[in-house]
Amino acid sequence: MDLEQLLALQDLDTRVAQLEHRLGHDPTLGELTDARAAVAAIETQELKLFGERDAVRQELKRLEDEAATTEDKIRKVNDTLYGGVVTAHKELESLQHELAMLKERLSGFEDLELEQMELAEPLEDRAAVLATNKQQALDVVSDAEMAVTAMQAEVGVELDDVLARRAAQAGAIDAALVSQYEKIRVAKGGQGAARLAAGGRCEGCHLTLPRAEYDAIKHSAADIVHLCPECGRILVRS
Ligand SMILES: [Zn+2]
Repeated sequence: MDLEQLLALQDLDTRVAQLEHRLGHDPTLGELTDARAAVAAIETQELKLFGERDAVRQELKRLEDEAATTEDKIRKVNDTLYGGVVTAHKELESLQHELAMLKERLSGFEDLELEQMELAEPLEDRAAVLATNKQQALDVVSDAEMAVTAMQAEVGVELDDVLARRAAQAGAIDAALVSQYEKIRVAKGGQGAARLAAGGRCEGCHLTLPRAEYDAIKHSAADIVHLCPECGRILVRS
């Protein structure tokens, strides 16, 4: 009687093991890992791109500052030149020469600024594409997280139920037998009891017992515990 109940306990333990395995290996977990990796990959691209973009922005800022300084100087030279204070021909000529030089310099800075702006444009476009991709990847992560949470909740509910039934089932069996079964189950990676099918086949290891041994087990008292000579599991006679 107890032996038959042991198989019911075994079924519940097998279900517990399946549910615990699912908690650690459900496909939703792999999907979440992949989704997070996709975000990380985009962030790596972003870091590199932002580095390039910052360099261009800094260079542009430097050129703008240089241009502003040059414009200041042009204003001052202009003021001096046309302010009426300087009248000596040589001095005026020198100021005109300086003014021409400054204007040339300014134009040079402006050309360089344009070059940087042209460099910046594809970088900004690429940054916008990455931002869109990242948002999509984050949405996938968020969906994957919800799927994992739903899976964990579903498994958790069933696990609680099976564990409660398992405790009740174990309580209905002789404690010494449960303890023996437990030791074998742990040692055998999950299965402590197996059906001894008609013909003498152990359903735990699929070995068919020698005829004489099978006959002896069949005809022994129902409460005597026999172990499979091959795998060591508790044999439950039909
Ligand atoms: Zn066996």
